[in-house]
Amino acid sequence: MADISKLINETAAHMGATPMNAESADVNCAETDGHTLFYNPSFMSQIEAAGGEDGLRFVVAHELGHQLGGMDNGGHAGEFMADEFATRCLVEMGADFESISGVFGMLHGMNPNGSETHPAAGSRSSRAQTVFDSERRHGVGIDEEIAPTHKRVNPNIKDITYC
Ligand SMILES: [Zn+2]
Repeated sequence: MADISKLINETAAHMGATPMNAESADVNCAETDGHTLFYNPSFMSQIEAAGGEDGLRFVVAHELGHQLGGMDNGGHAGEFMADEFATRCLVEMGADFESISGVFGMLHGMNPNGSETHPAAGSRSSRAQTVFDSERRHGVGIDEEIAPTHKRVNPNIKDITYC
């Protein structure tokens, strides 16, 4: 598998985020407390199989997006916000949308319906596609509509998905 620490450092530098430590851990997917990215190696291997190295970058950028957007921005709006940060980062790094749709395809396979904390993967993918296309054309700013709200679910841990 790709070197997660290296991907974090490259992606954080690109986003203007603070680099996180990477720690292989007994978690279900990938999550952060804002300082360390804890990841399940098997989950990350599946992400890489579905979305390639850019798929892994998307997961990393999503977690860094939580850090940038503020860890107390929870719920669906917080997830869309992190997805938007990550999508913009991937556009700027020259990724194809297939890497992002590959990630959401895999998440959809794990749970197609979403949860209290995370919107359904299909809905996240559609929003990401819109941001991706818009960023490619105009480089527009953060969309008011998905700006963070202050609904709190768990302010301490942010996952890539419900699992
Ligand atoms: Zn998240």
